[in-house]
Amino acid sequence: MTAKIRLCVDQPLGEAQSVPLSRDQAHYLFGVMRLGVGDAVLLFNSRDGEWRAEVVEAGKRGGALRCEVQTRGLQMPPDLWLLFAPIKKARTDFIVEKATEMGAARILPVQTEFTNAERIRQERLQAHAVEAAEQCGGTYVPEVTGLQKLDRVLDAWPEGRQLMFCDEAEVGAGRVLGSAPRGPWAILIGPEGGFSERERARLHDLAFSHVVSLGPRILRADTAAVAALTLWQQHLGDW
Ligand code: SAH
Repeated sequence: MTAKIRLCVDQPLGEAQSVPLSRDQAHYLFGVMRLGVGDAVLLFNSRDGEWRAEVVEAGKRGGALRCEVQTRGLQMPPDLWLLFAPIKKARTDFIVEKATEMGAARILPVQTEFTNAERIRQERLQAHAVEAAEQCGGTYVPEVTGLQKLDRVLDAWPEGRQLMFCDEAEVGAGRVLGSAPRGPWAILIGPEGGFSERERARLHDLAFSHVVSLGPRILRADTAAVAALTLWQQHLGDW
């Protein structure tokens, strides 16, 4: 049968490789999706591409799959990070899901001066990235890092990575990426309260920063994240 269900796993994938299932995975495949021995699923693990696998053991609390054939090679997203200030729960979930679909390689929640969130649920956000990759046909799941202070992230900025700074103060100014270099990049989206003047001044001064406007209207942070990813992908990415 044709395999429609895609599952992200931790184990290595390769010909005849057996993949044991966790309790949750077994529950999903056999309890929810009603698969049985002999049925096929598609597996990926961010390293070995996508494999068609067959159910060889189906139990209530576990089971096993066996890889048959590679159906796609690994497709890495461009080396693009998304830095964003976490907002309300559902909108933060949305940002992680959309960033995965749009092809971000790493997702970094950052705490800015006007960020309300003190904590994030990193595991839950990572699970959203996994689900989004399963759903969108990706073979790579971006890492969602823990919440870090924006200033700390900028202090330790990696050499050679460019920053697309989406500054709401530039609303309507028509500033675009222009002739920006290729290579590693990051996008920065602020919180609903925007950036402080101190943050803005610092971000404008950084040698690796490219200030852009996202049009003549102020976008909500989640919209801004998707718009910025689209712009970057169109200009410098893998579209
Ligand atoms: N409260 C702020 C808006 C914050 S919008 C104000 O009224 O000015 C949340 C984030 O989305 C901003 O920090 C920025 O990163 C991004 N953003 C939204 N609209 C934008 C625009 N037109 N240009 C550039 N960035 C924008």
